[in-house]
Amino acid sequence: MLRVANVSKEYPRSGMALRDVSFEMQKGEFVFLVGHSGAGKSTLLKLLTMAERPTTGEVRVSGYSSFSIKPREVPHLRRRLGIVFQDFRLLPDRTAEQNVAFALEVTGTPNAQIGPKVARLLTQVGLASRATAYPHELSGGEQQRVAIARALANDPFLLLADEPTGNLDDRATHAIYLLLREINARGTSVLMATHDVAILQRAQQRCIELDHGQLVFDGNDMTALVAS
Ligand code: ADP
Ligand code: ADP
Repeated sequence: MLRVANVSKEYPRSGMALRDVSFEMQKGEFVFLVGHSGAGKSTLLKLLTMAERPTTGEVRVSGYSSFSIKPREVPHLRRRLGIVFQDFRLLPDRTAEQNVAFALEVTGTPNAQIGPKVARLLTQVGLASRATAYPHELSGGEQQRVAIARALANDPFLLLADEPTGNLDDRATHAIYLLLREINARGTSVLMATHDVAILQRAQQRCIELDHGQLVFDGNDMTALVAS
């Protein structure tokens, strides 16, 4: 489903953001991506969405290769991925349901299907009662739920989450993490970049750690990771 093979990424002025990184992810997995600020997590996520290309090595996602994907194919790949960010990135002048509907409109979903699908997605993330609220009327945790509903709109096989709980308090963080677990249990693969040690300690899940652009850990033994 996803393979990163000997990938390095060098930016013109800031140097090597990733060095010889290799790993694979299978369908249905939930994987944490950890590392200090500047370790290369966002860069790796950008390589997976093909927003950036590796300097050397290959990224393969859903049958597309960074060697051969054509610019016009990139939007096709993106539609198969769901992406959520630390800062939610909702449209401020649209309600929760309009934000989710927008993701369906741009992919040409028939109008008659949009309303029921939006309702189903908002219910799935526990926000059916706030459908007509604007982002500024929602808490951070609620805004992230809208962003997750939007990311799921086109039935992605993989959800990429870049520090999705970075702006949330402990309670909202835990709730968002549980929601992502639930989404994973329904079959969507999840790759979640996080700094949150409390989540990692409780979870018994595969974790990939980057340090200064190098993959330094890939496994399930959280005690080894958190101690390091
Ligand atoms: P993280 O997400 O783990 O904080 P990043 O992938 O954002 O790490 O950054 C890794 C390194 O690459 C940092 O040194 C950062 O300054 C650099 N970097 C990230 N994006 C760019 C860019 N677009 N242009 C130049 N350097 C960048
Ligand atoms: P985000 O994770 O929100 O996508 P960016 O990837 O834009 O953030 O930035 C992540 C890191 O990369 C930051 O530390 C930022 O300063 C650095 N960075 C981003 N763009 C550049 C750039 N053009 N040149 C140098 N550093 C950059």
